[in-house]
Amino acid sequence: MQSRPAAERREELVALYREASGCLRCPLHQGRTRVVFGNGNADADLMFIGEGPGQQEDIQGLPFVGRAGKLLDQLLEEIEMSRADVFVTNVVRCRPPGNRDPLPDEILACKSYTDRQIELIEPKLICTLGKFAMQVVTRTNRGITAVHGKPEVHELGGRTVRVYPVFHPAAALRSTKTLDDLRAAFARIPALLEEPPPVPIGAVAPVVPAPVPEPDPPQMDLFG
Ligand code: URA
Repeated sequence: MQSRPAAERREELVALYREASGCLRCPLHQGRTRVVFGNGNADADLMFIGEGPGQQEDIQGLPFVGRAGKLLDQLLEEIEMSRADVFVTNVVRCRPPGNRDPLPDEILACKSYTDRQIELIEPKLICTLGKFAMQVVTRTNRGITAVHGKPEVHELGGRTVRVYPVFHPAAALRSTKTLDDLRAAFARIPALLEEPPPVPIGAVAPVVPAPVPEPDPPQMDLFG
């Protein structure tokens, strides 16, 4: 699908932000201080999708600004990227009370914002952080351990996109093994961003023409 001009997409993202700022679609609005829409580069090749705002995010209205966010910053720095290069959002945009897991109805109520953000940002690679984002984006019910660090291809926002499920940074703050695995998964991101666009599901991969063999050099006739 042909990409739309970045300025046009950015303008629509700003309109979506305004709409989301007053959102009353699910009961989470009752306890929120601010809606955490997501932030970063509106034309990013790399988009991160996390779970939901915690206390700091709720106060500041920005995603991943607490301890898990500091780890995300550090992991990005290790692959020579920064928050200015990426767009970061969550599957729910208002803080669940006491930082509990988001409920299916809350995720569903927020899903059209997630879908629209993907459509407008047109990322090359979507890195889902943790189980909830992986399940929403890949429309499956799998556990995170089985899929962590394994890129997949999905049709999202009218485009064929590579999805890269990894552990949530908050889980990596609790376990050194998870942190090592997450760090190793991040190390693959630059190479994934360099990959050619994935082939749409069901489409036949373009056939690379076989090289035309050079004609044999003239040979001396053995029996000349
Ligand atoms: N902060 C966020 O914005 N999202 C998470 O999933 C965790 C912390």
